[in-house]
Amino acid sequence: MKLAIIRCMQTEDFCPGTSDFKAIQNKTGVFEGVEEDIQLIGFTNCGGCPGKKVVLRVRELLKRGADTIAFATCIQKGAPIGYPCPFAGKMKALVEKEAGEGVKILDYTH
Ligand code: SF4
Repeated sequence: MKLAIIRCMQTEDFCPGTSDFKAIQNKTGVFEGVEEDIQLIGFTNCGGCPGKKVVLRVRELLKRGADTIAFATCIQKGAPIGYPCPFAGKMKALVEKEAGEGVKILDYTH
């Protein structure tokens, strides 16, 4: 799996992504049951509210070989401060459209 993670720009000040890296390393959370090696090819943020720049981020991640794009848990679940992204649905639709059918989209990481 060539994985790219997109996180919430607003949450970066609260979280350096440690739980994402642990989930990849230990194959827990959304990565439980993944048998192939997981290669992290990018870890970027959404580009800031209201999330429109995520399209540009996805483009760059795809150029670099991502076959799976995960939204970090901060976006849809609101970790670690209990504040989910109000634009998560629209952002997911943009990512799906940009990535196309061959790319797997994951809604959270851990
Ligand atoms: S659009 Fe959502 S994910 Fe991006 S910075 Fe704003 S709240 Fe965070």
